[in-house]
Amino acid sequence: MSSNRQSFHRVVAIDGPAASGKSSVARELAQRLGFAYVNSGAIYRAITWHILQKGIDAGDSDRVTQTAESAEITCCLQDNESRIFIDNVDPTDYLREDRVNESVSRVSSVPRVRRIVEQKMREYARSHDLVMEGRDIGSVVFPDTPYKFYIVASREVRLRRRAAQGQRDEITMRDHADSSRLVSPLVLAKDAHVIDTSHLTIEGVVSEVVARLKEMGLKVSA
Ligand code: C5P
Repeated sequence: MSSNRQSFHRVVAIDGPAASGKSSVARELAQRLGFAYVNSGAIYRAITWHILQKGIDAGDSDRVTQTAESAEITCCLQDNESRIFIDNVDPTDYLREDRVNESVSRVSSVPRVRRIVEQKMREYARSHDLVMEGRDIGSVVFPDTPYKFYIVASREVRLRRRAAQGQRDEITMRDHADSSRLVSPLVLAKDAHVIDTSHLTIEGVVSEVVARLKEMGLKVSA
């Protein structure tokens, strides 16, 4: 993909609200396409975990900004999936902690945090074809990609999915915060293809995405 500003590899954007099935779909799709899988939410979660570890109030945007700016955030790929290190620590095991679920929407609403994360995500696309999941991938991070999907599911199904994962996650509050923030809110990009996953299997959703990508002319071997 090329844009008038920068040149990127191909990016398939998978956006949508919490627990809509984005991660499972994006990971499986990336494998089918042979693209790298990047979970942008994990970067926001890693920064949130780092801020909480330092005892900083997630609502103190000045201190959140300072801390995010001074952290060394390393984003790489392992086994074709995104991995994050923050000040040389691997926070993977802590990214789904209740306290991270509770605070991540506040941290991700801080404009400077968003700019830092966006830059990291665009760096991935300089060297790899990607399937990237998030909230603003098709609308803000890669607005020029033609491959945009918006994954939804009913609230009941999403709550059931989180409960099955054993997580306490106030998805309704997160969705409200993510949709109403001033900077890069969760929105449906006007050229995104919407898929309701409520009554579909992961395989069913991936097949629909692959069929659509083929229609759009993306060379898909799987
Ligand atoms: O996708 P996940 O639920 O792990 O994302 C965690 C949080 O990170 C979201 O609730 C949202 O606040 C933030 N996020 C974001 N923009 C993205 C991805 C995630 O603001 N592209």
